Amino acid sequence: MASNIIVLASSNAGKAREFSKLLSPLGYEIRLQKAYGVSDAEENGASFLENALIKARHAAACTGLPALADDSGICVEALNGAPGILSARFAGEHGNDAANNAKLLELLQNYPRPEQRRAAYVCALALVRHGNDPLPLTAVAHWDGSIGAEPLGQGGFGYDPLFVVQGRGLTAAQLPEEVKNLISHRARALCKLTALLERYPLV
Ligand code: IMP
Repeated sequence: MASNIIVLASSNAGKAREFSKLLSPLGYEIRLQKAYGVSDAEENGASFLENALIKARHAAACTGLPALADDSGICVEALNGAPGILSARFAGEHGNDAANNAKLLELLQNYPRPEQRRAAYVCALALVRHGNDPLPLTAVAHWDGSIGAEPLGQGGFGYDPLFVVQGRGLTAAQLPEEVKNLISHRARALCKLTALLERYPLV
């Protein structure tokens, strides 16, 4: 293998741990982009996958190393897919979970029935060998559910207290963390990417 390092285009140490857990058995070492002085790319894509690719290409171009990026969020059917790629800053301020959740509940006021409140968490992953890689490894996964009438549960983050997991009758914030980490959009996307990497190693 030419290089076993994969630069993670994120500043989130928790994500680095999650990715390392699955990719280290395949011989890859995950390093955060800030270790190489890489700043955040401008996420101006129209989809999760486009944004993941923009971030991965930027990190690879800056470091000369393979790079991995993820982009995720929640899409609500009745809102034409919003909050979508704007999930982190739906109510304006980046990362204000309480404001984002309040805005989502308000927008769904006229949609009282669960079947009108269908939603999915989405995670897109992109892995490029270099900045201009014409054949990135990509994976997109959905986690289906609906938006509850009120926040429930203490776990997770973001929209988890509102996201009622299909088939479980519990919000993502009510699930034990280890269960969420096995069945979430991120877990599913990572699983798909790992399978691709096994077939097409980065050599
Ligand atoms: P990022 O891709 O990690 O930046 O996530 C974008 C935004 O999507 C987060 O700030 C959350 O609002 C939302 N989001 C993504 N994944 C999750 C999740 O597993 N639980 C709750 N919110 C999430």
